[in-house]
Amino acid sequence: AAKRAGRDRVTAYQPVMRTARETFTWVADGLRHALATEELAVHYQPVMDLATGRAVAVEALLRWTLSARGPVSPAQFIPVAEETGLIVPVGAWVLRRACTDARAWYERYGISLTVNVSGRQLAELDFADLVLRTLTDVGLPPEALILEITETVLIGSAEEGAGQALATLNRLREHGVRIAIDDFGTGYSSLSYLAQLPVDILKIDRSFVPAAEAASGDDHAFTRAVLQLGASRRLPAIAEGVETAEQADLLRDMGCPLAQGFLFARPGPVEVVAAELARTNGDRAGDDRPGGSPVGSG
Ligand code: C2E
Ligand code: MG
Ligand code: MG
Ligand code: MG
Repeated sequence: AAKRAGRDRVTAYQPVMRTARETFTWVADGLRHALATEELAVHYQPVMDLATGRAVAVEALLRWTLSARGPVSPAQFIPVAEETGLIVPVGAWVLRRACTDARAWYERYGISLTVNVSGRQLAELDFADLVLRTLTDVGLPPEALILEITETVLIGSAEEGAGQALATLNRLREHGVRIAIDDFGTGYSSLSYLAQLPVDILKIDRSFVPAAEAASGDDHAFTRAVLQLGASRRLPAIAEGVETAEQADLLRDMGCPLAQGFLFARPGPVEVVAAELARTNGDRAGDDRPGGSPVGSG
């Protein structure tokens, strides 16, 4: 069966027009086999403290590379993984891989790990058990782990009929695992919603990071409003997709403590990130101000 799927996969790369259905099918088939082969990898992107220039966390980002075709974008395969339910085993694999890789960084630098979690995973009855068991197996303390859940999924979990997902999140938080709202600002955030959600950290969506050149007052007003929403609940904010030094300066001036983006580092494989962290967080990196970062644990 693997052989047949392999052949189908190769024919799928012919540069012909494909229907959405055909694309869906080859992505789903390919992903099913990717778990068994070595096509999946986890890359990491540092989250920086804007005041110290040190990394306080790394975000785990799934990568899928086909030998015949090259990388497939998460924007293409994550939705298919969610729709087929494959995100459940794939997500479990990502979590274990990432916890294993991040342990040394936690021990050396007090750096936390953030892992994206889909609604489909959160809906699994044993999700909290899976996370806690993985942490125990790997030897990573729960305080080192942050689960990223999109605003829409979090709001759904707080609504009626989804008490199970909420119970899962509360149980994980009781153990010390933290929850970040991912893509914050893109859903229907309001102060009243935010107050009900079981969250510890806000990840400000890239669309709210002030545009480098067209920095009109309005852009800043939106960014400020989103940051104030977080500050009103004393939640530390991470700005996503920071690409320029001007953006980082603006965000720092607006009171945003943390950021990630191409300016600091692109997501990279474990060895590359290890070298980056040695540079930013190693003994002789930066100044020696004491810890106390809102997200790192060290
Ligand atoms: P996300 O969680 O919001 O992740 C941030 C995305 O922004 C990543 O895209 C990252 O590579 C990209 N990014 C980081 N810095 C910059 C920047 O300065 N400029 C720009 N233009 N982009 C930047 P990526 O890796 O393609 O992932 C896309 C989405 O796929 C993620 O969005 C996340 O929702 C999902 N995803 C990735 N890995 C996983 C996973 O293991 N599990 C689940 N459930 N979803 C995942
Ligand atoms: Mg994320
Ligand atoms: Mg995400
Ligand atoms: Mg995001």
